[in-house]
Amino acid sequence: MTSFTTPWTAEQVTHLNDYQQSGRIHPFTCGQRDQHPNNEGVLVATENGWHCPADGCDYTQDWAHAFMAASPPPPDPRDFMAKVRAENQRGHEALQQLLFATEFRIPCPEAADPDRSDSGPVLQPEPLIVQKVTANWADRFPDGWLILNPNLQPGDHVWTGDGWVYRGNLHIGVIYRWTRDEAIAEAQRLATEETRRYETWVAEQRAAARREQP
Ligand SMILES: [Zn+2]
Repeated sequence: MTSFTTPWTAEQVTHLNDYQQSGRIHPFTCGQRDQHPNNEGVLVATENGWHCPADGCDYTQDWAHAFMAASPPPPDPRDFMAKVRAENQRGHEALQQLLFATEFRIPCPEAADPDRSDSGPVLQPEPLIVQKVTANWADRFPDGWLILNPNLQPGDHVWTGDGWVYRGNLHIGVIYRWTRDEAIAEAQRLATEETRRYETWVAEQRAAARREQP
């Protein structure tokens, strides 16, 4: 194995120390390690050569393997596998969170608003809410989900499949008629419709306000 001696450049020193810490090779250690049994004496590279980090130890070494200074150590394949496992684990946790979620918010697209001034607020309806059946009704509708529109007054309106109806007027089985996947898909479709409805409503409000002005 080719070796080379001091002095070393700053870049070579960086590579040498990276190798020492990489776990890819057995690191150079102090030749006087028996004098400081509590410090392993993993040598530290400087431009003047290796030094021992142990307190009071004056051990130095002026040569290193050439390959250690030529380039950074290659990545450890065990690090790569650990990273893959960590990412799989995160993906798994995210999926579990989705499966255990009892509420999803489905955003509505921003409304077209040609009259909007630069400083005016963006017109956008509140997100539609997809919600799992509450504990009171979980026995009867264990997989039941509802689709709620918080933009309609008075109070909450839920989607029956035919229209938005005040939930107080509906049978519980109609309110929670959806499975989770059905409710999410339906709410995504409804979100676009909701923005169109909202645009019309805003236009009507503005027209009414103009009529009321003296
Ligand atoms: Zn030492």
